[in-house]
Amino acid sequence: MTSIAANLQAVRARIAAACVAAGRPAGSVQLLAVSKTWPAASVREAVAAGQRAFGENYAQEAVDKATELTDLGLEWHFIGPLQSNKSRLVAENFDWVHTLDRLKIAERLAAQRPPALVPLQVCIQVNVSGEASKSGCAPDQAAALAHAAAALPNLCLRGLMAIPEPGDDVRLQRRRFALLRQLHDRFNTEGLLLDTLSMGMSHDLEAAIMEGATLVRVGTAIFGERKPA
Ligand SMILES: *Cc1c(COP(=O)(O)O)cnc(C)c1O
Repeated sequence: MTSIAANLQAVRARIAAACVAAGRPAGSVQLLAVSKTWPAASVREAVAAGQRAFGENYAQEAVDKATELTDLGLEWHFIGPLQSNKSRLVAENFDWVHTLDRLKIAERLAAQRPPALVPLQVCIQVNVSGEASKSGCAPDQAAALAHAAAALPNLCLRGLMAIPEPGDDVRLQRRRFALLRQLHDRFNTEGLLLDTLSMGMSHDLEAAIMEGATLVRVGTAIFGERKPA
């Protein structure tokens, strides 16, 4: 029998082993538990096992869950495709957004983030897989978006995020993640102050950590297989 607590422990062990393999300090990779489609009770189980940061793809679903769990003071990360008509809900209710991919949305989030809250922490999603993926901005547009987003009020640009195409080819996974790291490093030489590489999921977190991930987004390995929508 598996439990969320046991799964979390196993994922933490995978992260620790990957850090050793990469020659990186223990604790240099943050775990984001992706709780999309799972009920608040599942989130509570993860919290009881020490997890504090959760990722969600659907804004309203997340807000409903967070409302049930306000007593716990959790950190909520929006990691789904972000449409204009959901930007206010996200700006008002989340701590982080990982999927910023165009200036128009950045401007809406900046205008809609309540100034009484700490700035919204944002990552720019980059399409590192070319035609194999549709989400994220093109690598050659990321610099312009990053510099523009960094200048907006009520946002704090933290880094870059990517979702490579699925697949078991570890060398291909590493090539995709390396591209994101190279962009991150280049933007920092251009004066940005990025500290976050949001990359790696249940099946490819080891490859992501080898290439410098500072945050991995893990759902299935913690909560189990999601039911098809
Ligand atoms: C669902 C999702 C995850 C988690 O994926 P798993 O394969 O279940 O670990 C991570 N990142 C994003 C953007 C997702 O949509």
